[in-house]
Amino acid sequence: MNHAQRIAELPPYLFAEIDKKIEAKRAAGVDVISLGIGEPKNKAPIQAILTSAAKLSGGDVKYTPTDGSPSLKKAIIRYTEEHYDKLVGPENVIVSTGAKQSIYNLLLSLVDPQDEVIILAPYWVSYPEMVKLVSGVPVIVTPEDGTFHPRLPEIEAALSSYTKAIIVNSPNNPSGVVFSDSFIAELVELCERRGIYLIMDDIYHQLVFDGARAAPAYRFTKADLESSKVLVVNGVSKLYGMTGFRLGWVVGPRKLVEVMTNLQGQITSNPSAISQAAAEGALTGGQGVVESLRLTIQNNRDVMVRELQGLTDLRTVCPQGTFYCLPDFRAYNKKSLELADFLLKKALVVTVPGSEFGAEGHLRLSFAGTVKDVKQGVERIKWALDPSAPSEIYIGDRRMVRDWL
Ligand code: PLP
Repeated sequence: MNHAQRIAELPPYLFAEIDKKIEAKRAAGVDVISLGIGEPKNKAPIQAILTSAAKLSGGDVKYTPTDGSPSLKKAIIRYTEEHYDKLVGPENVIVSTGAKQSIYNLLLSLVDPQDEVIILAPYWVSYPEMVKLVSGVPVIVTPEDGTFHPRLPEIEAALSSYTKAIIVNSPNNPSGVVFSDSFIAELVELCERRGIYLIMDDIYHQLVFDGARAAPAYRFTKADLESSKVLVVNGVSKLYGMTGFRLGWVVGPRKLVEVMTNLQGQITSNPSAISQAAAEGALTGGQGVVESLRLTIQNNRDVMVRELQGLTDLRTVCPQGTFYCLPDFRAYNKKSLELADFLLKKALVVTVPGSEFGAEGHLRLSFAGTVKDVKQGVERIKWALDPSAPSEIYIGDRRMVRDWL
């Protein structure tokens, strides 16, 4: 397929479409609960607000170096040392407009037409589309044992002479699973032995529960930074609740960073100087904000898992990180798109069909919202699907009677 045709056939971005549906319902006065959102409710950290406001009120808002302002890069270098125990230099860091652009920069820089990129199911919706956009071939590897934890032999079996990279996201969107240390260690070894880039999308890495820890891939590499195949993507969207600032970064070998900088220089140049100032504030300010967000989200997770237990035929893997879980709804409906539409129509609750993440029969439920949303959202699902739930429910002051079970 030629390039323009591929772009013309790009499906609408799923979450923009979901947001549109929510807006339309709310505008019509309908009390919709969203378990679809992928962003926490907290306000941006005060330090981020202060540094970006200072930048703005100074009026000196100009281009920065394409790969990011030296002071933000310094903060990222410190972050990398603290969280990854890895010493890197400014030439190993490139800052972009969100982790999304970081991943896209990486794929554009690494993938030749027909190169294959391994994506582990269930996966973040954008990975396959991004790979296709750079004329690569997404190769989806799904754990055969029905779990959400990838297994090395299945990945090895999917490798070919065209494999250029593997994308790993742990804690995982959409399953909430944290991949084991031994798996990450084996994967690093495999990638470095076979010369395959390992793109670690660590955007949720501090959002882990019950003492779990997302293993930093750098811990297992024997190669020095310049020859290592490990590339780490990170950002402030999820950990600091700063999705709207659009700020992410990549840590990797200097040659690749240089290539990506040249590329970015022709596309967006530097990310907004105001967002860079905000990210610097977030990274250098008190880190209690991340811990407080983590605790709030962990509590929401507990509430969601407890509420879901009320659905008799549901199977749920308890999330160890992120703000999503991916229950198996096949006992209720094997077609997740149909089920998500049904739940929106009948129960006024937004869920995301698992088919979008390579997990048909499942729904992704977000617990990033309020406890009230989590509780009421699941209660509505229970009412709509479970014959043992009371047949009446109040949505606002509207009494709804179930007449389909
Ligand atoms: N990677 C994963 C796994 C995500 O879930 C998201 C956002 O939902 C991103 C990357 C993009 O993050 P950003 O907002 O920094 O572009």
